[in-house]
Amino acid sequence: MPATLFVVIIATCSVVALSIHAARQRYGPNPLPEGGIPAAEIIYRVEREPWTCHHAPARPYTVEQASRVMQERINCSADDCDAKAAAFRVLVDARRIKPATWSR
Ligand SMILES: [Zn+2]
Repeated sequence: MPATLFVVIIATCSVVALSIHAARQRYGPNPLPEGGIPAAEIIYRVEREPWTCHHAPARPYTVEQASRVMQERINCSADDCDAKAAAFRVLVDARRIKPATWSR
């Protein structure tokens, strides 16, 4: 019984391996759909995009929205978080907060 099972497993693996080999022979090692972008190119592009943990809004925040964003993004750095930086600017412009280096 174990010998039969072993033969069945080896035969199944052989069929799968031959199918994969035949597919690679026919389509190449990494077939892409028409217009597809290779994974290496996607990784290259993503690694060169500026990183931000939260994106800035398309339109400026209202003062109320900016206040809420500042509370929600309390653990974000304004240097890395475009949303928090945008909220910060709105609150500075509205004179709700003063930057530490601002002496007016
Ligand atoms: Zn953030």
